[in-house]
Parts: sequence; C-alpha cells; structure tokens
Amino acid sequence: MRRPLVCGNWKLNGSIGKTGQLIDALVSGMTGIDGVDIAVCPVFVHLPLACERAAGTALHIGVQDVSDQAQGAFTGEVGAGMAAEFGARIAILGHSERRARHGETDAGVAAKFIAARGAGLTPILCVGETLAERDAGDTLAVVTRQLDTVLEMTGVAGFGDGVIAYEPVWAIGTGRTATPEQAQEVHAALRGRLAAHDAALGEGARIVYGGSMKGANAGELMAMPDIDGGLIGGASLDADEFLAIARAAVAA
Ligand code: PEP
Repeated sequence: MRRPLVCGNWKLNGSIGKTGQLIDALVSGMTGIDGVDIAVCPVFVHLPLACERAAGTALHIGVQDVSDQAQGAFTGEVGAGMAAEFGARIAILGHSERRARHGETDAGVAAKFIAARGAGLTPILCVGETLAERDAGDTLAVVTRQLDTVLEMTGVAGFGDGVIAYEPVWAIGTGRTATPEQAQEVHAALRGRLAAHDAALGEGARIVYGGSMKGANAGELMAMPDIDGGLIGGASLDADEFLAIARAAVAA
C-alpha cells in the first residue's frame, strides 16, 4: 500500500505575511488528517520562514527547483544541500514551466534529480505532454522518454524514493483536468516502465497527478489504482481547498 502524497506548488506567489499565514492555516487545519504526506513548496526566499513555521509539525516543506551543482560559480542558483539545511525535504524538478521558460532538458533534470537525492531530498520528477503531443498520439512516448533519461542516469538504486508527477501541460493552470481514465492510462504506463527496471520500484514508487486538481475532482482522480496523490498549483494557495484534496487522498 503506497502512502499518498499531496504537494502544493506555490510557484511565484506569497509574501512574508501571506506565506506565514498560509503555513499556519495548513498546520492547524491538518489536525486529524492522517494517512497522507502533505507538503508545500514556497519560493526559495520564503523557505527559512516556512520551515520555521512548520517545524515540529507534520507539514513538509519543499522547493520548486534545485541546482545540479552543490556550490561554486553558478550565479543565481540554489544547491539542494542549502535547501536541506533549512529543513526542506522535497524538490519539484522538471516542471513544465521550467522546461518551457528555462530550456530545461531531460538530461539536465536528471542531473538535478541526482543532486537532490544526494542532499537527502525527495525529488518529484514532473513529466507530461503538450496538447500537440497528445493530439499526435505521442503522450506515452514523451513521458517515457522523460522518465527513462532519469532512470538511465540514476539506475534503480539512485531513483530511490523519487516520486513521479504526471502533469499534462494542457491541464496546468487551465481549469481543464485530465479525465481519471486518461490519467490512469499514463500512470499505469509509467509504473510499468519502472517495473520493467525493477519490480519493487514499480510497486512502491508514488506517481501523483497534477493539472487543475481541486477538492471537487481530487477524489475521482485518486480513486484510480495508480494515482497516489497530487501535485497542486492554484488550489494549493487556498488552505481549505488544499486540505480538501488531502482529505480526498485519505478517502481514496
Ligand atoms: C502545477 O503547476 O504543478 C499545477 C498542477 O498547477 P495547477 O494545479 O494550477 O494546474
């Protein structure tokens, strides 16, 4: 039985005041929600604040990216070990917004995955197809390529406790969600790919869905056998909505 993960991607949102309030609201609202890992990923500059406010609670804090380098002459980058030192436990990697805006490649994302694991962070590897790729029938080829590049560079042992987030690009921030059947088809293919490398990895790895997930649709998505939680953008900025998704994960 895989323990579900519900992770908020706060993107470029928040302020000292808002970030603190949202963390406090989540910590108090989480009381009584058991059987799910709950995490949020604020912007880097709010990481110390978020970790301090969440210290000693069940709320995990993560980051939205890390450098593939530990330290050195890499202007503007943040090392995974630096984030871990503050208390971060998770790193979202290869989000489609970074792939599109920053030209992140499959191999570059894989290098970040290795850096995150090396610093003790749990990587959430984002994979997903554009609408044009889906329409061309290339969905499974795209997500398989994105996953395989990481697996080839890490090996099974190096993949470790890594999480995969299937995030169809056409569903992110659009209000258009993949149907449970569409998502399940891709999740099952990704799990099959992991299992082809190692049966235990296929069975144990968490594969979460992301793309306009909210309280109203989380239950039907997470009821699918290979969907183990969610990576949530917009709805994670509202504590009630985000916690409704966490409750749906427990019920699924
Ligand atoms: C995301 O950016 O990872 C995401 C899933 O966004 P949203 O929930 O807003 O579609």
